[in-house]
Amino acid sequence: MRFNPKARLDTSRTSGGGGGGLGGGLGGGGGRIPIPGGRAGGGIGTVVVLLLFFVLSQCTGIGPQVIGGSGGGSSSTVGTGTFGGQQASDGGDTGDFGSCKTGEDANNDENCAFVAMENSMTGFWDSQADLEGRFQPEQSVVIFSGQVETGGCGSASSSVGPFYCPSDQTIYLDPTFFDSIFEQLGGEDTTFVRAYVLAHEYGHHIQNLLGTMGQVRTQQGPDSDAVRLELQADCYAGMWTAAAENDGFVTDITDQDISEGISAAKTVGDDHIQSETSGRVDTSSFTHGSSEQRIAWFKKGLTTPDSIAPCDTFKSRNLDQP
Ligand SMILES: [Zn+2]
Repeated sequence: MRFNPKARLDTSRTSGGGGGGLGGGLGGGGGRIPIPGGRAGGGIGTVVVLLLFFVLSQCTGIGPQVIGGSGGGSSSTVGTGTFGGQQASDGGDTGDFGSCKTGEDANNDENCAFVAMENSMTGFWDSQADLEGRFQPEQSVVIFSGQVETGGCGSASSSVGPFYCPSDQTIYLDPTFFDSIFEQLGGEDTTFVRAYVLAHEYGHHIQNLLGTMGQVRTQQGPDSDAVRLELQADCYAGMWTAAAENDGFVTDITDQDISEGISAAKTVGDDHIQSETSGRVDTSSFTHGSSEQRIAWFKKGLTTPDSIAPCDTFKSRNLDQP
């Protein structure tokens, strides 16, 4: 994956953990946000499933809750969860985005690459006819390390992984998360795996704008709303991928990139994670769909960059066949 060296980057929505999206006045979430802390098998899968659980607990509107990890890990509370402060806790600022001026910077610096991806995704969704009059960019992409205070989703540590917080419309990413993915995948050029994850989280922002998150009633099971929400975010990530090349920011997404994205999708399938962590697959506790389903919906998005309708997982009668 390469970026157009001449593209001018807009850093106004990307910040380090010390700033963006954290101003006062967005309170309401208030209390603690318990995050499953068990990491039975270690491994990337567990990390990702935790982040997705976290997102889910935010999506449902039923407030803070403890959701047991599918790997049988124990639950714990991370951080104090108090909200209203003006600054992130000790994690602090990890990004120097002021130096991200062009696509060339994005080619040379992974923080700048996030800026270029964000610019590309914002441009893509802004031009979607299906979202006409309803689109607005996310409030912020916050690149943090250590720990971060969100605007309504409590505090989160790196172990949560990337997530989207609906109440402040902000995507939170700790870049060290990707190190463990790359280790698992053994890939060389891994920029696209970052893009896939960011595009998935951006997909949750689109769901938030469209009210899709509010439709989630059932939290677990192979045909649950939770699974449908996650598979739809994968599909949206595929839509952006299909349209990104030559959009002014992205010049090149190779077949190798796509297959790395698919490998990443495979590692976060519920069945894969469960068999890694417990040696068994229990579909009744699925929250994100199987590896095959996640790949299938990502690929579905690849074929349909111009309309969100084919990504309507909530209307799908067979999630195995988008
Ligand atoms: Zn998700």
